[in-house]
Amino acid sequence: MKINILNQQNSVLNQFVAELRSVDIQGDSLRFRRNVERIAELMAYEVSKTLSFAPADIATPLGTAQVMLPTDQLVVGSILRAGLPMHNGLLNVFDRAENCFVTAFRRYQNPTEFDIELQYVATPNLDGKVLVVADPMLATGSSLALTIKALKRYGVPRHTHILGIIGSDEGVERIAHELAGEAATLWVAAVDAELNEHKYIVPGLGDAGDLAFGEKI
Ligand code: URA
Repeated sequence: MKINILNQQNSVLNQFVAELRSVDIQGDSLRFRRNVERIAELMAYEVSKTLSFAPADIATPLGTAQVMLPTDQLVVGSILRAGLPMHNGLLNVFDRAENCFVTAFRRYQNPTEFDIELQYVATPNLDGKVLVVADPMLATGSSLALTIKALKRYGVPRHTHILGIIGSDEGVERIAHELAGEAATLWVAAVDAELNEHKYIVPGLGDAGDLAFGEKI
C-alpha cells in the first residue's frame, strides 16, 4: 500500500485543514462542511492522476479535439455520518461514480473503551472498479479496518483509495497493516502523533461528525 501525506507539500489544502482545526473558525458548521468538501475535491483531483486513461475524439463546433479521458468505473464510498461532506466533495469531481455507504460507530463501554459497530452496507458490486473510501478522521483506524473487511464481500476492486483528512500515527499504521500487499493508496492531509484517552486525535480538530452536523446524545 502506498501512503501520501499531502501537507508534506505546501498547497491551499493546508489552509482548509487549518480552518477545520481552528476553534475560532470550526464552529461555523456551514464553513466546516464546505472545507471538508473542498479538501475532498482536491484529493479527488490527486486521485484522478492515478486513474487509467484512453484517447477519445470530441467533436467541437469547429473541429475534432483529441483528448485523454478516464476509463475506470469509480465507486465513492463513505462512512456515515462524518464522511458525508467528503462524499459530496468526491461526487463534485467524480460525478459519474457509483455510491457506497457504510454506517460504523463507536459504542463506548466506558469513557475510554469502545467497540466499533458496523450496521449497514449499501454498495454496488466492486469487482474491477476503483473504490474511493472517505473517512475524515483516522484515529485508531478501527472503523475503516472493519469497513474494508465488510466491503471485501462485495467484490475485488482494481484499486482502493482510502481518503482521510487527519490521521494519527496509530491509525495510519493500522490501515497500512490491513492493506499490506494490496493494490491500495492511503491519502491523508495531515498526520498527528497522539491519541488521547478517549482515542481522539491530538491536536486533531475535535469530533468531525459533531462539527459538521451537531452534537448527538
Ligand atoms: N473521530 C473524530 O471525529 N475525531 C477524532 O479525533 C477521532 C475520531
